[in-house]
Amino acid sequence: MASKKRKNPTVTELCKGILAGERAMLARAITLAESTHAADRKKIAGVLRKLMPHTGKSIRLGITGIPGVGKSTFIEAFGDVLTQEGKKIGVLTVDPTSQKTKGSILGDKTRMERLSRNPNVFIRPSPTGLALGGVTPHTREAILLCEAAGFDVILIETVGVGQSETIVRGMVDFFLLLMLTGAGDELQGIKKGIMEMADGIVITKADGENKKAAVRARADALQALHFQSPAPSGWKPRALTASALDGAGLKEIWKMILEFETLTKDTGYFDAARQDQLRQWLDESLEVHFRTMLTTPDVMARKKRLVGEILRNGLLPTDAARLLWEEIIAPDEET
Ligand code: GDP
Repeated sequence: MASKKRKNPTVTELCKGILAGERAMLARAITLAESTHAADRKKIAGVLRKLMPHTGKSIRLGITGIPGVGKSTFIEAFGDVLTQEGKKIGVLTVDPTSQKTKGSILGDKTRMERLSRNPNVFIRPSPTGLALGGVTPHTREAILLCEAAGFDVILIETVGVGQSETIVRGMVDFFLLLMLTGAGDELQGIKKGIMEMADGIVITKADGENKKAAVRARADALQALHFQSPAPSGWKPRALTASALDGAGLKEIWKMILEFETLTKDTGYFDAARQDQLRQWLDESLEVHFRTMLTTPDVMARKKRLVGEILRNGLLPTDAARLLWEEIIAPDEET
């Protein structure tokens, strides 16, 4: 929530601040994007409309892996490499906040503290990540806002244990899967499908005594990738090793991403994939509208009555759903 002490910036002020690269304005705009209040939604839509011409120029990089694989340590070290290359980087997280515990897997504030002090880095944890049944349109909006603020590489981090990685896959150009050595896929909680989503796999913690095992794990990963059917992009996913401790392999990862960018821009896949993502964004936004519609007091009251009819009078739930749809959501539709 915006502080009462500060005046709420107007759409024009927000746009001006963001285009000037002011982090405070960027942060406030992302807060608006995360809000579900109608007034905030309207305001952020106004901001995004104006900023659209200034978006799209970054590389959007998804990073996933189980807790403990080394994501935050990797992002800190990789972030250093990128900023040394003169890049400005934005780090966003899509956090599968547990509905049950209301706890957040990624959201604690101590992560990436050092990197967050780098003037060329903007870090934004997003503890409300997967509200509304796994849909996160605000992360897509946050990406655009970061781009308008001049960030060249946007890292979107998520825990690869649920559906969040699939969602992140649908909003990035390159998807990087971090894996540990010495643990089978099943131990890593990695679903088979997640490897198929990856454009690159990095075996983390390839240092000290773990180095040899990392090299072996890389060979295994390469073999697994080899058996996959070719990606529509024409890109052959690669496996690398890296150490966030001594920095080994980090530059190679960036090189791989740049090669991917060159290849897919040449073939037209890069732009085609981004267009697909816009279609997907439309679907997600519609879903949010439908879900919101289903929770209005009117619909809830009607639904309660229908549940009564289902339980007492044997009304079929599918018929109840159709009735509700016809009566409340599409009252004029005649079928
Ligand atoms: P996350 O849960 O995926 O974000 O994982 P963290 O970045 O918090 O790392 C988990 C643990 O692995 C921490 O104790 C790190 O210090 C350690 N770690 C992370 N990267 C490396 C690395 O490159 N080498 C070594 N040896 N340890 C690492």
